[in-house]
Order: sequence, then C-alpha cells, then structure tokens
Amino acid sequence: MKFIFISGGVISGIGKGIATSSIALLLKSAGYKVVPIKMDPYLNVDAGTMNPIEHGEVFVLDDGAETDQDLGHYERFLGESLTKNSIATQGSIYLSVIQRERNLEYDGECVDTVTYITEEIITRIKEAGKSKNADIVLIEIGGTTGEYQNMLFLEANRLMKLKNPGDVSHIHITYLPIPASIGEMKSKPAQMSVRDLNAVGIQPDMLLARAEKPLDQNRIKKLAISTGLEPEDIISAPDVASIYKVPLGFEDQNLTGRLLDKLGLKREEKDLKEWKEFVEKIDKAKEVVKIAIVGKYFSTGDFTLADSYVSVIESVKHAAWVNGLVPEIHWVDAGKVEKNPEILKGYQGIIVPGGFGSRDIEGKIVTIKYARENNIPYFGLCYGMQLATVEFARNVLGYKDANTTEIDPKTEHPIIHIMPDQEKKLLERNYGATMRLGAWDCILKEGSLVKELYGKKDISERHRHRYEFNNEYKEEMEKAGFSIVGTSPDGKLVEVIELKNHPFFIGTQFHPELKSRPLDPHPLFVGFIKAASKIKAS
Ligand code: GLN
Repeated sequence: MKFIFISGGVISGIGKGIATSSIALLLKSAGYKVVPIKMDPYLNVDAGTMNPIEHGEVFVLDDGAETDQDLGHYERFLGESLTKNSIATQGSIYLSVIQRERNLEYDGECVDTVTYITEEIITRIKEAGKSKNADIVLIEIGGTTGEYQNMLFLEANRLMKLKNPGDVSHIHITYLPIPASIGEMKSKPAQMSVRDLNAVGIQPDMLLARAEKPLDQNRIKKLAISTGLEPEDIISAPDVASIYKVPLGFEDQNLTGRLLDKLGLKREEKDLKEWKEFVEKIDKAKEVVKIAIVGKYFSTGDFTLADSYVSVIESVKHAAWVNGLVPEIHWVDAGKVEKNPEILKGYQGIIVPGGFGSRDIEGKIVTIKYARENNIPYFGLCYGMQLATVEFARNVLGYKDANTTEIDPKTEHPIIHIMPDQEKKLLERNYGATMRLGAWDCILKEGSLVKELYGKKDISERHRHRYEFNNEYKEEMEKAGFSIVGTSPDGKLVEVIELKNHPFFIGTQFHPELKSRPLDPHPLFVGFIKAASKIKAS
C-alpha cells in the first residue's frame, strides 16, 4: 500500500479538501483504488458537537459518522461512499489510547505521546487503507504547518517515511499572496512554509502553489531553488470558477504522472472522460435558475453560511447543470422574510435547509406558507420538512399553537415531537453521536411524486436529527391534503411528505444533499430544479 500525505501552509482555508479530492479522483482514474482519510487536529471526538458557524457543515456518512465537510468533497469527487475509517480527529485518537490505558492494556508502562499517539495515528491510516482494500491512502492533515496542533500527524508521517521511504509521499499545499500595494506575487511565505515542514523532518515531494493567478516561470524557478524540488513538481493551482475544474488543471500539469513515478507505480488507465463531459456541461449551461435558501443569517465567524450548507449548495449546482441551467443561489434571511414575505417574490424555488433551535423559526414558517400558497417549488430538508409540517398544522388544520417540541415543549399540538429514547439521552446530557444518524431505509408510496422522481420505491438516505413527525396527527393531516409518501419499513417513522396540487412541495426527514454527486445528481434536487425552471423568474 502507498501513502500520500497532504499538508497545508501559510493560511487556513487554502483548499486542502478540494485538492485532496481532486488528487483522489486523478489517481482513481489512473486505475488505482484510493481511500482518503482526514486527520483533524481538534480534540472533539467527532464534528457532531461543533457549532456549524465555527466548523462548517457536519457531513454524515452511511455508518452514522459525523464528519468534516471535506468528507463530502471526497465522496463527491470520488463518486463513492466512505466509512468512519476515513476520519480521525485527534480527540478520537487520544480517546482510544486513554481507554486502552484505563484497561491496563499497556502493561503498566508510561504511556507517552510520541510512541502511543503516533502509533495510533499510523494504525488509523493503515486501517483506512485496509477497510477499502486500497492501493493508495491519501492522508489530509488538518490545520496549517508551523502550528502545534497537527505536529503529531506530521511526526507519524516522518516515522512512516523513515520505515518505508518508497511507499510514502508528501504533497504540500502552499499559498503565494499578491499584496495589493505591491501588485506582485510573493513567494516568501511559501518558502517559509516548506521550511516549517523541513524543521519537523519532512521534505515535500511536490508543491501545490495556490494563488489568485497562475504562477509564472520566475516564481516556479524561485520556489524550486529554495525548496530543492524540480520545477515540474511545482504545480500551479490558481483560483478557478468551479471547484470541479481543479482536477483538470492538475492533470494538465502532469501531477498524476509525476506522483505515480515517485511511488513507483505505472498508470494503468487514463479515463477522465466522464468528468470532462460533466465540466463541459457547467460551461455550456446558459439560462439561470434562481433559488432562495432561507435560513438564519450567519454573518460572523470564520465560516460563512456557504460553509454551513456546502452540500446543499453543491446539490443545487449538480441538479442545475444536469438540467442545462446556471444555478443562482441567494441567501435569504428568515428574519427579514418574517417582516416582509414579499421579498421572496421572483425566486423560482425555495429551500429551507436543516437546522437546530429557535432562532428565526417563525420566519422560516412564513417562508413555507408563502411557497405553499404562491405555488413556488419548495424543498424542505430535515428541519425544513418538520417546519413545513408545523406550518400546515397551523394554517390549514387551524392549530395555531402547533409546533415542534424542540421549540415549544408545552404546546397543545406537538406535531413534531421527540421519541422516548431520544428524550432520555437529552435528560442525561448525552449529546455526542446520539441523534438518529446515518443511513436508514425508507419505502415510498406508489403514485407519489417522490416515487416517480427516484424511479423506485425502496430507498436509503442519511439522517441527523432527534425529532420526528407525531403519528397521532397522521390521519387528520392526510385528510387535509398533506401526503405522507415515505416511511421507515415498519411504517412508524415519517420520512417524506408532499403536497398535491402544487408544482413541487416536498419535505424529507433525511438529508438528500449528502448523497448528491456531480456525476450522479440527486433525483429530488433534479426534480426540484426542473420544477423551478418552469416558474417565471423576476
Ligand atoms: N432540529 C431538528 C431535529 O433535531 C432538525 C435537525 C436537522 O435539520 N438536521 O430533529
């Protein structure tokens, strides 16, 4: 098995996840079985307990692992579903070691960081490879070189390389700024970030040079001299209009060939055909489809709204392109809609995505009412489905106080409520990895729009929530025209709802956005965008 470490320098947010995903795709298309693993420096055991404003989206896998948004990029570029073996936080690594220590598994030895933590890191990397029978494991090291947080990951890299030099490679992603006052691309920070790596015993085999613009020969020469790399091993990675073009830029500079050479591998095949055709579709799309995503407005923090909903955004894009359309996504502040729903006028489709807590809930409910009454395609994802249910109970059944018990535990009409097992977990303050998580089977109703869109009745989708539709209201709601069109196989959990006599009004208890792939867009998003394209924009 071969191992490629990927680190980042100079700044955070440099695009390590996209670069890792792109390299994974290129190696896969060269004929190799590739598995990526993200090593995150933080001490949270998983991403599930982190605020999305702080950390971005929590990406859930089939096996229920609550992971970093980069796992979403890996799955989308590779077109494969990953497992919990593809994520390891420093917290989970320490936890395993400390649990073993508590069980006396170290035979009374002093449990040192360097030996046992690095050993655990190496074990996780190898397990990731074994879990998929991979030829190549790509290890994305979170954080930025030079900081303390990710030092142990780099030490594990150094140790692995010492033992098996021919099997281990390192790609460093660095950044060349163009300060406005100078107007020239500067290479010093990049040189320094390589120096930081050298200081911990790692010489990169390749540099990915991120910058606003492509690198010129001068810059490449300078970097080559200062880092001891061949100019051909310095890959220019300028900003591009679409992340999906990144692999093609790397391929044009022969990244795959150079990398395979270093690892002593031959190119088995070369097939980026499908990917190229997909990218052509992006360029060919002309007509715009205008979609509003209505949520609480996050304006502060390192992460923006876009980071919190990256899978929703990508799913909309995949579906637009496959329909030959240019996606135009607008963020609409639910608080503003509450004051004036007319600001929703002109959008061709409305999404209320997943969420937690009470902020701007009423604005989201006003949004859903607007979409329902004005025949605007509506797609509710998880919380967006639950709130569509609340809206219907309030405004069609007339239960003015209907609510989810997440917001109002004392409501007389708990149309969305919590199951006893979930309630127990909350009372025990047992929050980590305890929601309804991961892949659940669902059966769709004959004759429903969802069944038609999926083209089959047995589906499996990913979940992440605590609250559920309250079956006591099932009959009443259905009589009033609210269709329950997808349930768990035992019929007890409501998974999909839709409204008849509406161009598109669907809510899913699951998160379809977690399974949309560029080469295989999600059927519900495709249906939603198609319906939206038939609405007049303004
Ligand atoms: N807050 C809701 C719940 O816990 C919805 C969660 C979500 O949208 N992911 O059930």
